Amino acid sequence: MMIFETVKKFQEWRNTLPKDQTLGFVPTMGALHSGHESLLRFSAHDNDVTVLSIFVNPTQFNNPDDLKNYPNTFEQDLAMAKKLGVDAIFAPKDMNELYPDQYRFKINESEFSKELCGAHRPGHFDGVLTVVMKLFQIVQPTRAYFGEKDHQQLTLIQDMVSSFFLPVQVIPCPTIRETSGLALSSRNLRLTPEEIQVAPKLYQTITEIKDRDRAIKTLKDYGFKIDYLEDRNHRRYVAAALGKVRLIDNVEL
Ligand code: AMP
Repeated sequence: MMIFETVKKFQEWRNTLPKDQTLGFVPTMGALHSGHESLLRFSAHDNDVTVLSIFVNPTQFNNPDDLKNYPNTFEQDLAMAKKLGVDAIFAPKDMNELYPDQYRFKINESEFSKELCGAHRPGHFDGVLTVVMKLFQIVQPTRAYFGEKDHQQLTLIQDMVSSFFLPVQVIPCPTIRETSGLALSSRNLRLTPEEIQVAPKLYQTITEIKDRDRAIKTLKDYGFKIDYLEDRNHRRYVAAALGKVRLIDNVEL
C-alpha cells in the first residue's frame, strides 16, 4: 500500500496506472470506522484500484474547537486500509498542499448549501465542495463513494458533478449504524459514556415519532440541543448536539 503526502508524488504514481484501469475513490477525514470501511469495500469490489484520502479539511470547519478536537487515529486507519486492500492513501499533512492559493478560489453553491447544515455552519459546504473538487482533479477517479449519512453533502456533490460535467460517477452508500441505531461517526469517539447511552435516541426518535413538533420535544427532553429537524423531499434531516458533540442523521420517510 502506497502512502503519499504531496500532490506531486501522488500524481506521479497516478500517471503510472494503465489508462484502462478503473479507480475507486473514498475521501475521508480519517478516524476510520465501519461506515468508512463499507465505502472502501464497495470501491474495492467495483474497481481495479482503490484510493483513500485522509485530510481533515480546515475550510469546512466553522468552529475552531471542532477542528482542534477532531479525532486522529492515523496508525489504526492505515491498518484498516491495508486489511481492506486499499492500493494508495493520499494524506496531505500540510494545508498548503491542497490550498496553495490560500483558499482564494472556492466552489460556492447558492441554494441547498445554505439550508439545513449550511444554515447552521456558514461556509461549511463551500469548504466541502472545494476540497472535493480539488481531490477529484488530483485523484481522477472513475467512481467516488459517499455515505448517505451525510445526505445533504451527497446531494450537493452529485449536483456539483453534473453542473461541472465532471467525469466521475458518484456512488451513494447506505448509512452504517450500531445495533442501537446510532449512525457511526468519527465524532462519536468524543461522546462521554453517559452521552453514548443517550445518543441512539436521535435515530430512534426521528424514525418512531412521525409528528415533527413532538419529535423535537422528545429530543429536547432527552437533553439534545436541536439545530434543526426538517422533513423535505421524502426525507427527514436532523442535527443536534449532545454536550460538546454535534450529531447528524437522516432517514427516508
Ligand atoms: P468523514 O470522514 O466523516 O468526512 O466521512 C467520509 C465519508 O464516509 C463520507 O462520504 C461520509 O458520508 C461517509 N460516512 C461517514 N459515516 C458513515 C456511516 N455511518 N455510514 C456510511 N457512510 C458514512
